[in-house]
Formats: sequence, structure tokens, C-alpha cells
Amino acid sequence: MHESGTSSGKGQRRVKVLVPLPLGAPYDYLLPAGLEAEPGAVVRVPLGSRDVSGVLWAIGGAPDAEFDPAKLKSVQSVFPVRPFGATLRRLIDWVAEYTVSAPGSVLRMAMSVPEAFTGTPLETVFVLGDTVPERLTPARRRVLAVAQDKVPRRSSELADQAAVSPGVVKGLADLGVLVGREIPSERPFAAPQPDHGPQTLSDDQASAARDLRARVARKAFAPVLLEGVTGSGKTAVYFDAVAEALRQGRAVLVLLPEIALTAQWLERFHDRFGVAPAQWHSDLSRTERRRVWRAVLEGRVPVLVGARSALFLPFEDLGLIVVDEEHDPSFKQEDGVAYNARDMAIVRGQLERCPVVLVSATPSLETVVNVLADKFAHLQLPERHGGAQMPDLSVIDMRTEDLPAGQWISAALEAEVHRTIAAGEQALLFLNRRGYAPLTLCRACGHRFQCPNCQAWLVEHRYSGRLRCHHCDYAMGVPAACPSCDATGKFAACGPGVERLAEEVAERIPEARVAVLASDTLTSPARAAALLAAIENHEIDLLIGTQVIAKGFHFPLLTLVGVVDADLGLAGGDLRAAERTYQLLSQVSGRAGRESRPGRVFLQSHLPEHPVLIALASGDRQDFVDRELAARRDHGMPPFGRLVALIVSSRSEDAARQTAAALRRAAPHYQQVRVLGPAPAPLALLRGRFRFRLLLKAEKSVAVQPIIRDWLAKVRVPGAVRVAVDVDPYGFL
Ligand code: ADP
Ligand code: ZN
Repeated sequence: MHESGTSSGKGQRRVKVLVPLPLGAPYDYLLPAGLEAEPGAVVRVPLGSRDVSGVLWAIGGAPDAEFDPAKLKSVQSVFPVRPFGATLRRLIDWVAEYTVSAPGSVLRMAMSVPEAFTGTPLETVFVLGDTVPERLTPARRRVLAVAQDKVPRRSSELADQAAVSPGVVKGLADLGVLVGREIPSERPFAAPQPDHGPQTLSDDQASAARDLRARVARKAFAPVLLEGVTGSGKTAVYFDAVAEALRQGRAVLVLLPEIALTAQWLERFHDRFGVAPAQWHSDLSRTERRRVWRAVLEGRVPVLVGARSALFLPFEDLGLIVVDEEHDPSFKQEDGVAYNARDMAIVRGQLERCPVVLVSATPSLETVVNVLADKFAHLQLPERHGGAQMPDLSVIDMRTEDLPAGQWISAALEAEVHRTIAAGEQALLFLNRRGYAPLTLCRACGHRFQCPNCQAWLVEHRYSGRLRCHHCDYAMGVPAACPSCDATGKFAACGPGVERLAEEVAERIPEARVAVLASDTLTSPARAAALLAAIENHEIDLLIGTQVIAKGFHFPLLTLVGVVDADLGLAGGDLRAAERTYQLLSQVSGRAGRESRPGRVFLQSHLPEHPVLIALASGDRQDFVDRELAARRDHGMPPFGRLVALIVSSRSEDAARQTAAALRRAAPHYQQVRVLGPAPAPLALLRGRFRFRLLLKAEKSVAVQPIIRDWLAKVRVPGAVRVAVDVDPYGFL
């Protein structure tokens, strides 16, 4: 037997270190005598000509007769932070295996704040110095009054408390009146109080909450679907489970889509638990990211709410994971490591031995099938809270409407909006299209504005005066003359976006005070909060919004929802088109009539006999789910079969095509596996890269990952070509 990992007598040990780079397996290093490190430790190692931070993945290595310690480089240092826990390391390995990614690429998502390992982050605080100012403005006087108590404060705290601009504080610091000092910035996260503001639950809610609390107390893995119609109080129910985990002293992770827009959710959390939870999303400052990451690693974050990437935070003792709106497509990451945070949350719960609660009014078919197979427990809230009724839903057949060019609101819907506003209520017009118009063309020569990097039209945005590509960052000003024929004044906007709808509304519903809600008008959490407050204060009568408004919001006065183009999501060959359209439209319908005033929903459609519209109009979700499941089963499609997409891309169309053809020739031959393609991907040109797609379709029982690995190993991919693997693809882009 080898004494694996122990090298010749110098007290050095052989270790494996994973670095956060898209490389293969962990690399071997020597841990010099005198350096102590356990698995999970964050270490600094040399790699090629540079130094990188990585994680010690294992002590020792495979016994290796050829092993020559002289050829191994040494670990340079061990960071003084708590090691990554075993469950997180296993999660990283698991996700890498499942998604056919390099473990280093997955580790990179878990080490997203590299500066968090070094020392303690500092921040500047100010106290009164000895210098007496010569001239005191009222603003400066207020700052001095606040600082009188000698408590050190950050500049922003001083400015807030004295109600002055940060410039005033800076001015006083420049004069030496305030003296700055560096202190560790690791302010703790306040502890949420499980019994701060409990809600009285209805019978249905209470019984679901009891079940969840018991599961949390059991400290065992348990996947649960919490299903309830919009407005049934699902949040109140899972808050009870959060409270239980807090009582146990275990951490809670809540994953939410569209995190920037959760002002209302945060407020409810605050009402229930007395403090704000920690947050994790792309809008955080670097300092804040570092603070949160470190605090999670050190077990100082009781509850964190975050977007999908929060799944890879270094929690140690998770007592509960909640995935709210579990069906939401934004849980699926397409770029880099293609993973679905909902599915990986289940895996993490299994490793952490804690319940995972999936929450939805319209659960994904994957989840429905897991419930039917008894893999997931099922809790249901069949009714809206407080006696509120589900809204009345009707379809307006647009084939019989004779709308003039440039108008999209039917007479019937317009009349409903007038009526709603006159009654002192609010209305929402939903159109899932940002900007003014999805296509601009020249009426003189037919020129269409297209993105130079993508196979996509440029979308006109009038508020910003630009033509933008919604797939890459490309944007241009609207030129004075047509680039093809030089004609002026000939541009025509084709089709509506929310900005254009706002124009139509201004003309036809002039009495409405309007807010346009889209991802490009809700540019910051502060801006979003201000708009939501205006809506809540009834300073707005009519909301015009894209899907950002479909989720989670609760506006008591909102009684009318008009879906301007209910068919929008149904076109195209997307496997989930019907499912997603159903989910999105029920969600947006669910905004109507959430309290005592009953809600009405109108769906404008050219396809009123489409099963999605029939199901929505009849309110028979079960019938829709049954049909959709039957169709998927017949075709061996997910969740009954497996799909893996290979996207071959390159700046050179030829290179991409050739690699795709080589992959086709090397395609695996198994009975339960088929390979489709290569075909140009639906977006054949994206961000300057030409794209071809192959699709592997397999029976559910097939382990696709080893097949994909073998397959990829057979084909030499030139440097200029990228092959991305997407297991369980969603986007079909
Ligand atoms: P869902 O998440 O199922 O759509 P919510 O949790 O948002 O439903 O609840 C809808 C509304 O009803 C919210 O305003 C919520 O505060 C209120 N609500 C739900 N349950 C209760 C309860 N038990 N007591 C008081 N208000 C409740
Ligand atoms: Zn583009």
C-alpha cells in the first residue's frame, strides 16, 4: 500500500487544489511542512506564471508510482477564513458532473468575491476633530449636532441623519472638522425575530404551515411543492417555516426571480420578522458583496434572499431552502455553466439535509411530475386569502376587431379601462415587449434595421432615442436618413412595445395617470421602489408593463388586467411555449382583484381556440396540465425524456459549421438516444458568433452525461470554436 499523499520524509503532504478557472480536475500541489490546512481551506497556489486562489479539495492523491514531489509546486499560503464546507464542495462537484462543466467553472460561481479572502475589509468612519470651522452653514451645523455624541459614523450615515448631501460631510472632512478613521466594515446582520409579527393563518394556510414547520424541525431532506392560486398566502405560509428554522438556529436561503423588484417582499419580511434579510443580487456594491459573502461563510447570516447565484453561497448550516416562483425561467442560467437553480436547490437540500420548498401558483411540469411520482410532497392552498375571489377572465377575439393601423387596444378593453379608472380603481395593460417598436423599416426601400452582431431586429426605444439589440449591447441613434436609400422621413415603426402602447393610451385614455414598467424603466431598486410607492398611493391609474410586473406584486386597487397580445409567447418551436404562456398569463391575471374588489381579466387574442387560451378562460388548469403532459409523453419530451443541447459557435461561420459536422459524424449510437441536427440555432448569429445546434434526445432512464463526455472527447475543437453544453435546455436560442 502506498501512503498516499505523504511524500518523502520532509513532512510535506500532497494535496489536491481546485482553482476557479474552466479547467478539468483539481491539481496536485505540496502542502509544505508548517502550513496547516484542511479540506475546504482557501489557499493561494502558483499556476503557470501567476498565482491564483483556490480551494483545497482533498488531502492526498491517488497512489502514483511515478509521483515525484520535486515536480510539484507548493501551496503558498492559507487564507485565514473558514474553510468551504463539505456540502458546498460536494454541490460543486455534483453540478459540474450534471452540467458537464469543468468543476473550476462551478467553483468560480462559489468564489465570486475573490477579495473576500484577504484580511478584513475596512471602511472609513468619521468623528469630530479639534478643528473649529470658521463658517457654519445650517447644513454643516446639523452635521456637527449629529456628530456631537462622538459615535463614529460612515459618511452616508452622517449625511442621512443630518439630512444633508454627502458633499457637506466631505467638505467638513476636507477642513479637518471631521476626522476619518478606518475600521473593519463587517457590520453584523440583524437577527430576524421569529415571533415579531406573526400572522393569523386561515385553516388551509395553518395546516400547510404546520406541515412545513414539522419538516424543518425534523432536519431531514424533504422536497415539497407549495402550490396555491395567486393571492392565497403562500408567502405567509413559508414565512412560518422560516421562523421555525430561525428558532432552530439554522440558516435560510430564499431564492426569488427578478430580485431587484422585491421591494414588496422585503417589506413583508420586515413586517413579519422585524428586520431586513441579507440580500444577494447583481446590483450589490462590491463592498456589500464582500460583506455578505464573508458573513455567510462565517455563519453570521440567518436569512438571505437572493437571485439564482445565491445558491452557491458558502452556507454551513442550512435549515431551509425556499424557491419562490419555482417555475420561473430566470432560475435557468444559460451562459457559462448552464444550470437550473431550482433543480440544483433540490440537490443542495439533499446534501444539507434540509427541506426545500418550491412555491408556485403554476408549477413547472417537471415539478408536477415529481409530485405525481411521490418524489415531492404536495401542499395546496386552493383559495385566495380573506375571501377574495379569483378574477373573471374573458377572451377578446381580435379577428373580429377592426382596429386602425397603429392601435392595439380593442374598443371593449378601452371601455373597461375607462370604467375602471372612473370607479377609482387601477388597471394594468400587459404587453411583454420592451421599447417602442420591435422593428423599424424604411418605407421607401424596405430597409430593416438589424443588429450587426445578432440575427435580430433592432428595437426602437423612444425614451432613450436609440435602436437597441435585446440580445447584445449594440445600440445606435436613429439616423436622419435611411442608410440604404438616403430617404428621409420614411421610417415606419412596426408592431407595438410598451412605449408605443403608452402613446396609444395617451390618445385614447387621456384621463389615466400612467406608469410604464419594464426592465429598462425600472433601472434601480430605488427607482422601482419609488414607482411602486406611487402605485400604492394611487398616484397612478394605469400600469403598462412587461413581465417584470407579472410577478408577486400586490396592489389592492388593481381590478382590471388587459393582456394586449395573449398570443405573443405561443409562436415559435419552443417546447415550453404553451406552458410558459400559461404561467405568465395566469400570473399576470393574478394581479387583478386581490382584495375585496373583484377583478376582471381580458385576453386579446387571434387564437381564441388555442388550448392555452381555453384553459385560461375556463380556469381549468388541471385539464391543461393533463393535455400538455400527454403531449410531452407521446413525444418523449421532458419531463419524460431528456434533452441536451450542444451549441457550436464561432466568429467564423465555416469553422462553426465544420465542427458541428464533425460532432454529427461522431454522434453516439445507442438505442434510447437520438441526435438531431446540426441546424442553425434559432438565433443563428448572436453577439457576433455564428451558431449551430445539435440536440441529443434520450429516454429518461439514460445517464446522458457520460455519453456527452465521450462524444466531446472524440472531436477536436479548434481554438476559434466553442462548444457549449446545455443539459435540460430551456431557452432553445
Ligand atoms: P401568494 O404568494 O399566494 O400570491 P400572498 O402571500 O402574496 O399570496 O398573499 C396575498 C395577500 O394576502 C397579501 O397581501 C398577504 O399579506 C395577504 N395575506 C395572506 N395570508 C394572510 C393572513 N393569514 N393574514 C393576513 N393577510 C394575509
Ligand atoms: Zn445584437
